[in-house]
Order: sequence, then structure tokens, then C-alpha cells
Amino acid sequence: MSRFFSEKFSALTPYTPGEQPRERTYIKLNTNESPYPPSPIALRMARQAAGNVNLYSDPTCLSIRKTAAERYGIDADEVMFTNGSDDILNFAFMAFCDERHPVVFPDITYGFYPVFAAFNRIPYETIPLQDDFTLRVEDYVGIGKTIFIANPNAPTGIALPLCDIERIVAGNPDNVVVIDEAYVDFGGESAVSLIHKYDNLLVTQTCSKSRNLAGARLGMGFGCKALIQDLNTLRYSTNPYNLDRLALLLGEAAVKDDGYYKANCEKIAATREASAKR
Ligand SMILES: *Cc1c(COP(=O)(O)O)cnc(C)c1O
Repeated sequence: MSRFFSEKFSALTPYTPGEQPRERTYIKLNTNESPYPPSPIALRMARQAAGNVNLYSDPTCLSIRKTAAERYGIDADEVMFTNGSDDILNFAFMAFCDERHPVVFPDITYGFYPVFAAFNRIPYETIPLQDDFTLRVEDYVGIGKTIFIANPNAPTGIALPLCDIERIVAGNPDNVVVIDEAYVDFGGESAVSLIHKYDNLLVTQTCSKSRNLAGARLGMGFGCKALIQDLNTLRYSTNPYNLDRLALLLGEAAVKDDGYYKANCEKIAATREASAKR
């Protein structure tokens, strides 16, 4: 640490990203990347975009938002894209948590949540999972705090049904409930269908796992217009061009070419079943 490092960050323990070894002598599973390449359409579009990187990318991300709105049956103002979903999760900690809205999440879940809380200097509590690693819904209903839940959870892989997510969201009307759906495409019900019903629900997804784009860094968030506006206030106050031209086009193709990605997810799930049996 230099003698110039701000005291407000001096006690911070950064998140340790999954190791990225260079030698490819074994099968690497630690960061849940897809072993399959992006769709041929995505690659073609990215090649076209590469010629235009002398120009800034579109800070409004309009084209990809329109495509996503169509795919998910929502309004283009109810979705936003960020530099990986880690980016939107951090914005959510910044936007919806403070002394009045402390944070709560399960004790066993995505390891970045406590780091985001510490980085934003927000008090947080963890709630233990039950002995079978499932989450007890009653622990969260009416808790009156900002809630982060990965569904399916990581690293347990256990998903709550949509009716349980809805009980938690409905049971905390004065706090934002963030549902991190990084793995939902591999099995699980998405809560995006609930964003028109609840103004306190933010759903995040990522193109890193099921859409084969971990290296392009593309995350998405779904919520009512006002929530998305708040997050955009933070995005525009830090880095409005946080998505580059290539990522935007790769992502748009990934959202469009649903069939390709669904087939990949099925292959991955089949490999998982086969490996678990060995
Ligand atoms: C991988 C992962 C993320 C973040 O992924 P990005 O690559 O930043 O989009 C978020 N939440 C969970 C639970 C994850 O496993």
C-alpha cells in the first residue's frame, strides 16, 4: 500500500477472481465459463464492429435494449446493460443500500456481495442457509432490508421456485430485492416476469455463462423504469461508455440467437449429469 492510499479503502479486501491458468493441461471449471464459442452471428457482427472502434459506443445501448425488450416482453426502459453483471450488482449496492437500508444475503452465496458491501461502506448481515443448503423463505419475508439472492444460488446450485421469490419481494415492499440470475438459463424460473407487478424488484442476468461471452463482459438488469433510471444515474456519473462496440454487438446477437444458446445450455447440463455419475 502506498502512503497515498485513501484511508476509506485501506481495510478493503478485494474479491479474488477465479484463477485463469495459462497452460491448458486440464479441464478448467472454476469460473463457469462456457466451453462453446459465441454464435456464428455474434462473431460476424463483432468483426464488422471492430472496424468502427475509432468511434465511441452508444451510451444509451438502444439497439441491444430494444432487442432485449422484444425477447423478454418488456419495455426498453425496463432493461439496462452493464460491463458484466458485477457492474450492475455494484451499482445496486451503491443505489439501494445505506445506513437506512442495510443489506442482507445468505451466508453461502456469491463471494462478491460482501466485497461490494465493504467497498460501498454499507453494513451487511448474512442469514445462514439451512443444513441442506436451502434458503428458508420465512427468514427474508418482512425483514425490511435490501436483499441480494442468487437464484439459482452459487455455489449450491439450488433454486427457489418463482412463488417463493415473489413472497420475498412482496414481503419487503419498502426495500429493493435483487435477484441475481447468473445461472437461471441452466434451470430455474426467471423473476423477470414479475417486474411489472413489483416496483422493488431488480433482476440481474449475465451473458458470461449461458451466452458464451464471459470475455466480452456483458450483464443485464431488469426492473421498473424508476429503478433502471437510478442505476443509469450512477452509470452516467462514472462511465457512460462502459460497454464497447464489440460487446454491444456480440451481446445483441446473443440475445437474438436464443436457439443457439439454449442448445449450448442443454449440452452443458448433459455433460454435468454425465460427469456427476462418474
Ligand atoms: C459469474 C457470476 C456473476 C457475474 O458475472 P459477470 O461475468 O460479471 O456478468 C454474478 N453472480 C453470480 C452468482 C455469478 O456466478
